[in-house]
Amino acid sequence: MIPAPFDYVAADSAEHAIELLVSRGEDAKILAGGHSLLPMMKLRLAAPGVLIDIARIAGLAGIRAEGDELVIGATTRHADLAASDLVRAQAPLLAHSASLVGDPQIRHRGTIGGSLAHADPAADLPMALVALGGSVELAGPDGTRLVSAEDFFTGFFETALAPDELLTAIRVPCRPGALWGYQKFVRRANDWAIVGAAAVAGRIALANMGPTPIRAHAAERALAEGASAEQAAELAADGTSPGTDIHADRAYREHLARVLTARALAGRHA
Ligand SMILES: Cc1cc2nc3c(=O)[nH]c(=O)nc-3n(C[C@H](O)[C@H](O)[C@H](O)COP(=O)(O)OP(=O)(O)OC[C@H]3O[C@@H](n4cnc5c(N)ncnc54)[C@H](O)[C@@H]3O)c2cc1C
Repeated sequence: MIPAPFDYVAADSAEHAIELLVSRGEDAKILAGGHSLLPMMKLRLAAPGVLIDIARIAGLAGIRAEGDELVIGATTRHADLAASDLVRAQAPLLAHSASLVGDPQIRHRGTIGGSLAHADPAADLPMALVALGGSVELAGPDGTRLVSAEDFFTGFFETALAPDELLTAIRVPCRPGALWGYQKFVRRANDWAIVGAAAVAGRIALANMGPTPIRAHAAERALAEGASAEQAAELAADGTSPGTDIHADRAYREHLARVLTARALAGRHA
């Protein structure tokens, strides 16, 4: 449980972090809350030559409203999202999902940018962002680009981030008053979802039903065509590709997707 040797640099601005990413190439890894990266390094599943710490960069954390969107800095902690009056009013699904991440220690260290960049298909915030139709700002040596949450997650623990890019902010459409529901099925408190379902204003996203967080398109189409929530939820597993592990096999995950989607569409919160 001891990581391979590595260098450590505390970046003092986003530009500095990007310069370091460019100069150190694939040998470098961004360090945010460290709650996914450090366990991987201790298990030697990751062995970066240099960690670029972005946790103290002023301006990378914080939450503000801009037009009809929330703009959330990449190093905003899960606990701050969960406690934010602005997020609770404008995107309550996001605040609620952040409140269910791990335990208080994890929520006070882990960051939304780290969770999205890590791209665990069982994680809470990636599913929430896909359900909300959010997007991410990626900054690199050639400037900044905006990528939708759905395009950002490209595979199992894989994203659209290039090795020299930094995720700087998350944009979330404000949806005050929209009916939403959030369901996370776990065996023990603090676990990742065996399956998760998040619904808001007719959009449905699922966690752990494939290599990335995914939309339940068949169920969404049925809703749009006038089906009841129960009828639509029956289609929640269509087009998904869940795996089998010690917690659940494929058929059980498909069953969970249908049950949890029905609950989420009814506006219930796990
Ligand atoms: C015991 C335990 C239980 C947990 N339970 C849950 C849970 O129930 N639900 C859940 O969703 N998560 C859970 N997590 C994960 C937690 O949410 C982490 O905080 C999160 O996945 C990673 O955020 P971080 O800030 O710690 O990122 P780090 O660990 O610092 O980084 C993770 C990865 O993202 C990259 N990265 C980080 N920030 C950026 C950035 N701004 N730009 C580009 N790349 C970046 C890093 O290089 C690294 O590859 C748990 C973790 C632990 C240890």
